Amino acid sequence: MRFTLATSNLHKRDEIGAILTALGISPVEIQTLRDLPHIASPAEDGDSFFENARIKALAVSSAVDGCVLADDSGLEADALNGRPGIHSARYAGEGASSEECVQKLLRETAGVPRQNRSARFVCVMVLARGKEILAEARGVCEGYIAEAPAGSGGFGYDPVFWLPEYRRTMAEIPQAEKNRISHRADALKRLEKPLRAALRLS
Ligand code: IMP
Repeated sequence: MRFTLATSNLHKRDEIGAILTALGISPVEIQTLRDLPHIASPAEDGDSFFENARIKALAVSSAVDGCVLADDSGLEADALNGRPGIHSARYAGEGASSEECVQKLLRETAGVPRQNRSARFVCVMVLARGKEILAEARGVCEGYIAEAPAGSGGFGYDPVFWLPEYRRTMAEIPQAEKNRISHRADALKRLEKPLRAALRLS
């Protein structure tokens, strides 16, 4: 089984591969935009996770054969009215590192009391083939913005995403555990049926 993941983020590819294996969707070969340098990354200029995921799914599925899965994700902090949201990757500016984005988030939430630091990771996935959208799903993982980074696992905002039930950040729990509870796992579970059907056909 083979499909194209409309991203250049290898963390996402590895997490999605592991989640699919855990769901029994394996062996599966996932190619990313890094394997397809002739396909330009589309501009993510939509106003929502869904719009951006659709833009990526449609652009890439018009350029490759077979199934395309596009993931648009980010962090919504309630104390910041849902920011950084769809701007999570570029929160500290174009080309800024994850550490810079994390530092900006900590600055903007400095002094916010614990009970008001609630946040969620959101992941929207769109499955497409031949410029046609086959299915869509939204996954969520609830938590809090930590007051300081902790842990070295995962990527992006994981070191400052506090999970009360573990009393640890997302970057401190084992990767397999992240892959069980994450917004990406939630979205993929919701997409499981159409994804299985589409992969059998492609
Ligand atoms: P996208 O490529 O536009 O979907 O960017 C998503 C951005 O949201 C990433 O660059 C991260 O900053 C953040 N993000 C998404 N998923 C995660 C996650 O699982 N852990 C930590 N940060 C994430």
